[in-house]
Amino acid sequence: MKEKINIEVLIIGSGPAGYTAAIYAARANLRPHLVSGLEPGGQLTITTDVENYPGYGDTIQGPWLMEEMKKQSLNVGTIIHNDLVTEVDFNSYPFISKTDSGLIFESKTVIISTGAQARWLGIKSEEKFKGYGISACATCDGFFFKDQKVAVIGGGNSAVEEALYLTNFASKVTLIHRRDELRAEKILQDRLFKNPKINVIWNKTIKEFIGNDKKPSLESLVLKDTKDNSVSKLSVNGAFVAIGHDPSTSLFINKVQMDKDNYIITKPDSTETSIEGIYAAGDVKDKIYRQAVTAAGMGCMAALEAEKFIASKK
Ligand code: NAP
Repeated sequence: MKEKINIEVLIIGSGPAGYTAAIYAARANLRPHLVSGLEPGGQLTITTDVENYPGYGDTIQGPWLMEEMKKQSLNVGTIIHNDLVTEVDFNSYPFISKTDSGLIFESKTVIISTGAQARWLGIKSEEKFKGYGISACATCDGFFFKDQKVAVIGGGNSAVEEALYLTNFASKVTLIHRRDELRAEKILQDRLFKNPKINVIWNKTIKEFIGNDKKPSLESLVLKDTKDNSVSKLSVNGAFVAIGHDPSTSLFINKVQMDKDNYIITKPDSTETSIEGIYAAGDVKDKIYRQAVTAAGMGCMAALEAEKFIASKK
């Protein structure tokens, strides 16, 4: 049996929340260990241009930003494991977390920053244009479609909010929904229908994304009617897939309190979960803002709260 590693802070996940928690915990001399998970760097590693992370005058690249955060975490003393946490026991104290490679951590605190994943349509051509016309975040990428035609796919609150937001930049926004009524709240629907820049196409799914493979850049969508199976084409420069997100919380079900969508619930103005000493930061607990900068802020909060908790136990 492997030796147990006794530590002050275990951070699970390596997005902006996890790395920021690591930087603050390391600078508080807590020698944090961070387990990076299946997709080191998180959602930013699948984006291209980033213009809304403060501190950079020029456009930066998502994967580069995450590499820098990793470097910064290491430079201040974080121990990073390219591993996956597969089991947690929050009933015992110190908390026990086991990894895929067989490591066993006994930690005084745990910061959960496993993030969330945008749901994608799963069409082959979607992969080709992801980051080159196809996005899952209007706040991140809407700016790149100034005076261009864009489509939003989905019928929930996110899709409607993204469509409304995109009218700040795009010349025309088409919302494409697979049914003939929206799931979004009435008030949002009213705003959507009143906006002259937005057009809604009902009962259609996306059959294919078409564009220039060499550049690459998106040029149009092939739509399939859900009632009569007829096929049509819509010319667009950008497509925003807004069919929901899934928080990466399967490991923590029945371990900490979650909402109906499996997002971790934290106390007001805090990152503390239903268990003292366990914190959640970033998209794993946030379905509203979902930004790198808000996730980083929560990572900082979690580390400061962990530090306070450890000090109170001494
Ligand atoms: P959602 O409510 O689950 O809506 C997803 C939408 O995508 C639905 O309209 C669904 O269609 C459609 N969809 C799902 N899979 C699809 C597929 N394969 N092809 C085409 N369409 C597909 O997700 P969300 O809008 O991201 O919202 C998630 C949660 O966050 C909700 O609880 C929401 O209320 C909340 N939220 C709140 C706010 C706010 O309060 N301001 C903002 C954003 C999100 P169907 O309708 O046919 O199922």
